[in-house]
Amino acid sequence: MLPPSKLPDVGTTIFTVMSQLAADCGAINLSQGYPNFNGPAGLLDRVSYHLRAGHNQYAPMAGLPALRDAIAVKLRAVYERATDPDTEITVTSGATEALYAAICAFVHPGDEVILFDPAFDSYDPAVRLAGGEPVHLPLHAPDFSLDLDAVAAAISPRTRMVVLNTPHNPTGAAIAADDMQRLAALVRDTNILLLGDEVYEHMIFDGRRHESLLRYPELADRSIAVFSFGKNYHVTGWKIGYVVAQPELTAEFRRVHQFVQFCVATPLQYALADFLESDPQHYAELPMFYEKKRNLFCELLQGSRFRLTPSAGTYFQLLDYAAITDEPDLDYARRLTRESGVACIPVSVFYERPPAGQTLLRFCFAKDDETLRAATAILDQL
Ligand code: PMP
Ligand code: GLN
Repeated sequence: MLPPSKLPDVGTTIFTVMSQLAADCGAINLSQGYPNFNGPAGLLDRVSYHLRAGHNQYAPMAGLPALRDAIAVKLRAVYERATDPDTEITVTSGATEALYAAICAFVHPGDEVILFDPAFDSYDPAVRLAGGEPVHLPLHAPDFSLDLDAVAAAISPRTRMVVLNTPHNPTGAAIAADDMQRLAALVRDTNILLLGDEVYEHMIFDGRRHESLLRYPELADRSIAVFSFGKNYHVTGWKIGYVVAQPELTAEFRRVHQFVQFCVATPLQYALADFLESDPQHYAELPMFYEKKRNLFCELLQGSRFRLTPSAGTYFQLLDYAAITDEPDLDYARRLTRESGVACIPVSVFYERPPAGQTLLRFCFAKDDETLRAATAILDQL
């Protein structure tokens, strides 16, 4: 009776596996990416207000107009991109739904989609479920920058889409402006779409600028850019984000979104609309907020045997454990959780073909300072 699996080689996502192991072992959980502090009180107050005010029925399919208007204001202020909230912005159930619906909407059977490994784990299965063929290109340690010569060589008449994640999970790398220019030259005169996973847009450090696809009109016109309120407001459990794309792409995107999700939690949309308007400084302060956490985490590890290059963005830091053990990263991550009480994510799971002998673990530093001190005190002993 059981039909063949559509994803026979796929197990439970590593985030669930490691968070569960951390809980079972009572370990400090620096594995799955989420903050251990609350969202801003002003935002939480607005949710309570709107729940009580009776904003509890279906929202419009594309998102609450007030929220889309507030997003358009932000896009203009941050990326100098003028967007029509009616035809170019869609509120989604987190970035995960947005990525899935975008791939489902635009990838046809036999189409190739270029992904960069290590790649966030939802892209490849979504492409395959759409009948597409993922083409995995490696990013090379230690800086994990794009190899645009490899992209040029991989582009074929069947290439439908390139998925670009910056700042990049799991490596913490960020794309530089000249790579965006080169990418523009590569896709010019093709029908290739760009799917931009920009959920860490405001977690970018050392004075860098986030190179959003939306900053480059030529790229923006062929892009579906994906953002997440869960990341920006420390409320990952809300699962609310949005997609920005020119009108024809948005119309096609909504054809799918309306049947995957239809619409997103109404009181959250009201509250986010209010908060975007009342507290725009919140996202402006995020880079420094997380840069301090990155610095603290890295400084506290200075005497350890882990080697690191501080992340350019995201709330993740890679640590190289080559000086400690030559175990495979999955084994070491499990042992670290069980025996030492600190959970992290092995990086090899994000590759189609993991590089032999790579010894990298990803740690999430979106934690209060006390937690970062407790975790690094353990890591310093190894
Ligand atoms: N893309 C990347 C790179 C992520 O790290 C995450 C975090 N889960 C997502 C997408 C999904 O975001 P959301 O929680 O808004 O669905
Ligand atoms: N984005 C988060 C991470 O990379 C978790 C996402 C998830 O659990 N699906 O850890």
